[in-house]
Amino acid sequence: MNIHEYQAKELFRKYDVLVPEGHVAHNASQALSIAEQIDGERWVVKAQIHAGGRGKGGGVKVTDQVEEVGQLADQLIGAPLVTPQTGPNGRTVHRVLIEQAQDIAHEYYLSLLIDRASQRITVIASDAGGMDIEQVAANTPDKIVREAIDPAIGLQDFQCRKIANGIGLRSKQIHALTGMLKRLYRCFRDSDAQLLEINPLARLDNGKLVALDAKMNFDDNALFRHPDITDLRDFDEEDPKEVDASGHDLSYIALDGDVGCIVNGAGLAMATMDAISYYGGMPANFLDVGGGASPEKIANAFRIVLEDPHVKSVMLNIFAGINRCDWIAEGIVQAIRDQHIATPVIVRLAGTNVEQGKAILADSGLNYIEANKLDDAARKAVAAAKGENA
Ligand code: ADP
Ligand code: MG
Repeated sequence: MNIHEYQAKELFRKYDVLVPEGHVAHNASQALSIAEQIDGERWVVKAQIHAGGRGKGGGVKVTDQVEEVGQLADQLIGAPLVTPQTGPNGRTVHRVLIEQAQDIAHEYYLSLLIDRASQRITVIASDAGGMDIEQVAANTPDKIVREAIDPAIGLQDFQCRKIANGIGLRSKQIHALTGMLKRLYRCFRDSDAQLLEINPLARLDNGKLVALDAKMNFDDNALFRHPDITDLRDFDEEDPKEVDASGHDLSYIALDGDVGCIVNGAGLAMATMDAISYYGGMPANFLDVGGGASPEKIANAFRIVLEDPHVKSVMLNIFAGINRCDWIAEGIVQAIRDQHIATPVIVRLAGTNVEQGKAILADSGLNYIEANKLDDAARKAVAAAKGENA
C-alpha cells in the first residue's frame, strides 16, 4: 500500500526526522490559511498523488506571495496532473501539501528498501539527488552507495559514516545523517515498510538535512497489525475495479488487452496470460480467484471482468485442488444467466469434481465454449475475441 507524501512526512515527524513545516489542504481557502500560519518568505504548493515526477509535471509550485497560495492550490485541485510516472491521462489531484520553501544548498537521494538478493533492509544513497535515480544508477553507478543492514544487530554507526562519506557529507552533517538514518530504520521496521524514499534529501544553506520529498510503501500482508497506517489508504488513488475486487477477496489487475481471464492461482494466471499472448491475443486483466472459491465469488469475478468494455471474450481456467469444479460451474451458470452475458465464455475445468462441474454446465442449456486443455482454451479465447470460430 502506498501513502501520500504529506502522510509519510507526518510519520517522519513522529520519528524526529526533519521535514519542512507544512500541512495538507483540500481546497484553496484551507491552503491559504495554512500558508498564513507558516513562517517564512516563500511557500510551496505540492500536488498529492501517488506518483513521482510531480516537479517535472508542474505539480510543485513556489511563490513568495502568500495570497497566491490559494490560487495555486485552486489550479492544482480537481485537475489531472500528468507526470512521467502517471501515464498520458494523469491523475486527478484531490489534495495539496502547503509547505515552507527551503533554501537548498544540495539535493541527495536516500532510500531504505528490502533487497531481495541479500534479504536485508538496504540503504541506498547518492550525491545525485532530486533526479531519476534509475538513470543515475545506469549512467553513473559509482555515484550510488549501498549498505545492507544485518537484522540481528541493526544499523551500525560505521555503516552510517560510510554512507555519509560516500555521498560527500562533512563533519556535523555526518552526525546528523547518522541520527536520521537510525530513526528512519526504526520507522521502516516499526511500520513493516517495503520502501522508504527521500528524493531529495536536502542540505540547506544553514547546514540542516531535511526530507523535502517522502514516499513510503507498506507490506499489504502486514497491514493487519497497523490499523493507523491502514487508515491512510486513499481509495481515490486506486483503480475502483481493483478496490471492488479486493472487497470480494479477488486479486484483480487491469491490463490493456481484450481477453478477460478468470483463473485460480497466480502461477496459473501467469501461464494463462502467456498462452493467450502465444496465440496472438492480449489479456485484459489478471484475476486470481484463489482457493475454495464459492459460486458467488465466481459470479463477482465475471461481473468485474466484464465491466471492462474492451473485453471481447472471457477465458475461465480452473485447475481445482482446494477449489471444486461443481461450485465453479454453479458460479458460471449464475453469472451467464443473471448477468445476461453475451460475450463468448470459454471454460476449461480440471481437477476436483470436474465431472459434476461439466454436468452442471451441460444441463444449464446456456451458451459457453468448452475447452479441455489450457492450450485449447487460450486458442479458442483469442479466436472468439477476434470474432472468429475456433
Ligand atoms: P517529485 O519527486 O514528485 O517531483 P519533489 O517533492 O521531489 O516531487 O519536488 C520536486 C522538487 O521541488 C525537489 O527536487 C525540490 O527541488 C523542490 N522542492 C520540493 N519541496 C520543496 C520545499 N519545501 N522547498 C523548496 N524546494 C522544494
Ligand atoms: Mg521527489
